[in-house]
Amino acid sequence: MSERKFFVGGNFKMNGNKSSLADIVANLNKIDCPNTDVVVAPPSIYLQYLSASITNQVKVASQNCYKVAKGAYTGEISPDMLKDMGIEWVILGHSERRHVFNESNELIGQKVKHAVESGIKIIPCVGEKLDEREAGVTENIVFEQMEMIKNNVSDWSGVVIAYEPVWAIGTGKTATPDQAQEVHDKIRKWLAKNVSDEVAATTRIIYGGSVNASNCKELAKCKDIDGFLVGGASLKPEFNDIVKANA
Ligand code: PEP
Repeated sequence: MSERKFFVGGNFKMNGNKSSLADIVANLNKIDCPNTDVVVAPPSIYLQYLSASITNQVKVASQNCYKVAKGAYTGEISPDMLKDMGIEWVILGHSERRHVFNESNELIGQKVKHAVESGIKIIPCVGEKLDEREAGVTENIVFEQMEMIKNNVSDWSGVVIAYEPVWAIGTGKTATPDQAQEVHDKIRKWLAKNVSDEVAATTRIIYGGSVNASNCKELAKCKDIDGFLVGGASLKPEFNDIVKANA
C-alpha cells in the first residue's frame, strides 16, 4: 500500500459567483471519501464564502499568494492573511501565473520559500509547454522548475507537487497515462537524488491537464500518480467521481 494518501485539488480559476458556488459546495458536501485529501481553490474573494459552508472533509486553498507577509503590494495577499482566515493551502506557480502573468521561476521560488516558512501547505506546479515537449526538453524544463522549488523548501511535509503539462491545461488534450507516469517517475527519482529517498517516497505528485470523470481512473492506476489538480471539471458534478478515481 502506498504511503501517499490520494489527493485531489480543484482549481476554479476566475470562475463562479455566489449562486454557482453554492451549487458547487452542495455537490462537494456529498463527498464521502476519507481516503482522499480534497482541496478546492476558488477566486480569493470567495475563500471565506466557501470555507463557511463546506464540510470538514474538503479544504479550501488560495490560487496564489505573495512572497512577503505584508506591505505596500496593492492587490496581493500573504500566507499569514490566508492562515488568519483559516485557509491551509495555496497553489503556487500555476501555468497561468507563469505564462499569462509572467511570473518567473525565481519569483515562484520566493513565494514558495515564504509560504513554507509561514506554515501554509503548498501545491507548486511544474510543467512544460508544447514546443518544449516537441523539442525534447520536457525533463530540463521540469527539473529547472523543481530546482527552484527545492532550493526554497525547508520542510516537505506540506508540499504536494502538481505536474501540469501546459499543452494539456484547458485544452481537452490529456496526457496519456504513459506520458504522465513517465514524468512523474522522473520527478520522483529527481527528488530521491536531489532531496532524499524519504521525501521522494512520501511526497505526493499529482497530475493536472484536462482530467475528467472519463480519463481519471486510467491515470490513477499509474504508480507515481498520487491524485489530480483539476481545472474545468472541478466546477462540475463529475468532480466527485474524480475524487474517487482510485477507489
Ligand atoms: C488547471 O487549471 O490546473 C487545470 C489542470 O485545468 P484543466 O483541468 O481545465 O485542464
